[in-house]
Amino acid sequence: MDNRITILYIEDDPGSQVLVERVLSDAGFRVVTASRGLEGLEAADKYMPNLILMDINLPDMTGREITTRLRADERFRSVPIVALTAQSQAGEREKALAAGLTGYLTKPIDIDTFPSQVAHYLSGAKDTVSLDALAQAQFEYNSELVLRLEQKVRELEQSNAELRRLDKVKEDFIQLTAHELRTPMTLIYGYSRLIQESPVVKRLKGESPEVKAFIDGLVESIERMSGVINEILTISRIATGRIELAIGPVNLMRMMERIVQEMGQVARQRNQTFTCEVRQFPTMIQADADLLALALSNVIGNAIKYTPDGGVISITARTSPSSVLIAVKDTGIGINKEDLQRIFDRFYTANNTQLHSTSKTAFRGGGLGLGLAICKGIIEAHGGKIWAESEGRDEVKLLGSTFYIDLPLQAPSVRRTTA
Ligand code: ADP
Repeated sequence: MDNRITILYIEDDPGSQVLVERVLSDAGFRVVTASRGLEGLEAADKYMPNLILMDINLPDMTGREITTRLRADERFRSVPIVALTAQSQAGEREKALAAGLTGYLTKPIDIDTFPSQVAHYLSGAKDTVSLDALAQAQFEYNSELVLRLEQKVRELEQSNAELRRLDKVKEDFIQLTAHELRTPMTLIYGYSRLIQESPVVKRLKGESPEVKAFIDGLVESIERMSGVINEILTISRIATGRIELAIGPVNLMRMMERIVQEMGQVARQRNQTFTCEVRQFPTMIQADADLLALALSNVIGNAIKYTPDGGVISITARTSPSSVLIAVKDTGIGINKEDLQRIFDRFYTANNTQLHSTSKTAFRGGGLGLGLAICKGIIEAHGGKIWAESEGRDEVKLLGSTFYIDLPLQAPSVRRTTA
């Protein structure tokens, strides 16, 4: 246990730091230092010093501001805070005292007398000035604070604008790149289908299992890659508010029939029980058919993906006069409470996807973590809400998850997302 008196020295000049530290340490004090205002506040909190030596000109805050901030804290109300500064212009000392400093020492220090000057303030001494001078200094200090605040607000506004510009550059870059990739990808995809359909290739596939495996692998990878490119394009449109909803009449019951047929096939490969009472779905809503189908397929696809073989996925709907509440419930690995919101963020994947990727059917799970962000963007653009509920993630107990989509029957007339 260190019983020495602790002095915190807040000073950005390394030379002064070393000198004062040496002189005070030799005199038996424990000295801790900080080079910036915020760092000084943290050090004060951590070391609870008996006295603070304060430079006035620091890179982030002035010594006066740090003092005012410390004085607002009950624990530092009576700790001596002494300015140690090269500034000796008229009025500086008064302004320091008006800000709450106890005393004012000037640099360079006299190494012989400095420890006793510090001891003097430690014993309770305080500098004094006339009341008139203090009132004048208080006024000047207040004006200085307001000006500094105004300057900081301006700086923040500027850096905010710069960050927004950079964010836009990034989104534009992502969108442009994905766009440029999509064009050749469409061609590659088309050719791959032609190769698959070609009688010569069909014959070769029949003759050689190796050729069949090569071609199937190729086509599957191309499909996955074009899926990823489309995901990136969609999410970047949503993020930049560039997504246009093509609102029109949608027969949600028919749409679900189609999705159930497609997804049901995948679920059957995984031995999953897949139920959907399509008649519960309204036959007439106003929405963007393609985007809505994409959102629903993503959520249902996830239910299949994150449920091990043999699980149950059930989809239900409850229609009210103005909206339909869709629930997609699975008996899968579940989601931890702290992840329930974050899974809707871009590029967020909650867990490693070992469980399903090593399942008996070797189903490939896990993606970029864009699917739910896309769903959220699409559903919110329709004026709806999407959220998830789960008792937690447990690969053994399989607590399951339920995803809810609350969708208005009539999408708002505003067609641009605000995301
Ligand atoms: P990914 O491409 O990783 O599936 P998503 O945005 O679709 O991205 O999902 C984000 C994360 O949310 C997933 O990585 C997964 O951890 C979790 N998740 C989504 N749906 C489910 C579900 N039905 N059960 C368990 N976890 C899920």
